[in-house]
Amino acid sequence: MRVVLKECAWETQDKDLHVLTDPREVITLADPDGKVAAFFAELDRGPRTVEELCDALDLSRDDVHDALAGLDSLGLIESAEGRSLGDPRLDARHLSNLAFFGLYAGLDQPRAAFVRRLRQSHVLVLGVGGGGSSLVQNLAGLGVGRLTLVDRDDVEPRNFARQFLYRHADLGRSKVDRAAEWVREYDPSIEVRAVDRWIAGPEDLEDLFDDVNLVAGGLDGHPDAAVWINAAAVRAGIPFVAGGMTRSQILYYSVDPGVSPCVSCDRRSRPSPEAPDTAGFVERSRAKLMITNALNGPMAMQIGSLIAFEAARYLTGCEPPFAAGRYVKLDLRNGLVPEIQPFETDPGCQVCAT
Ligand SMILES: [Zn+2]
Repeated sequence: MRVVLKECAWETQDKDLHVLTDPREVITLADPDGKVAAFFAELDRGPRTVEELCDALDLSRDDVHDALAGLDSLGLIESAEGRSLGDPRLDARHLSNLAFFGLYAGLDQPRAAFVRRLRQSHVLVLGVGGGGSSLVQNLAGLGVGRLTLVDRDDVEPRNFARQFLYRHADLGRSKVDRAAEWVREYDPSIEVRAVDRWIAGPEDLEDLFDDVNLVAGGLDGHPDAAVWINAAAVRAGIPFVAGGMTRSQILYYSVDPGVSPCVSCDRRSRPSPEAPDTAGFVERSRAKLMITNALNGPMAMQIGSLIAFEAARYLTGCEPPFAAGRYVKLDLRNGLVPEIQPFETDPGCQVCAT
């Protein structure tokens, strides 16, 4: 393996070497004899093997291995080969994805591996309307290799405030067909399947989970849709990421089967509509509030991108899923600062407690 420095700058001050890889923090390394600076300078000349570093710096193999382990633990180096997908056109297509995953890259975790995992992934997107439209665009941008899109609506004028997959000329067309067409035009290497289907119950999901790595999105139309998807995803052992909006909050959450509690563990999310209390009143009245959907462009784009990045966490392993077993709520009354509400756990949950 040849080792290369990640994007960073450094400067000697007195007996310290200051290293900058993220503008918000300076890493300070003690360097009384200038050897650390010499190590950086040698790596800066280009990718180097351990042997080349030993020869150039007159160091033992153990010294070089120790130095590399230290720099790797600080997130400053990676494998030179791992910076490329092996095809200049692909590297250009994924320029920003590769640069982004460079944040998480290290000697054992090439940045290209994160992008490859996305390219090998199959995501089932349920709903290509409100949040789903921007979700599809974000997943395509990340380079997710296979998408199965499910929806039953046609493109209507009311969609245009927030669903930027669709054009005026698409009015009256099947959304899911048009969404699939958009993906093919955007990146012909993405395999996309359109399923024009109304999900009226759990049985309508059964044949959709083959070879799927993750389920994302949200179906409107039935208050129990999230519960159905949750149950199907947990049964299949596939992560599920979803989101939505209330009057003044947008939120997303995910379920990591076998790891996090699931949607059905959280009874607060489904209070009894018959209960003679305020929770029951809220549940009885929820449908009325949903008649006019306030999820406009900026809100829909937020939800789509938050769901897409949570999906990328699961698919690449770049970091642990942030919203597993909890609602992450962005409050319009508070500058969209996230607040976390963990799911209740239910050791006897009929969906996930096995
Ligand atoms: Zn559960």
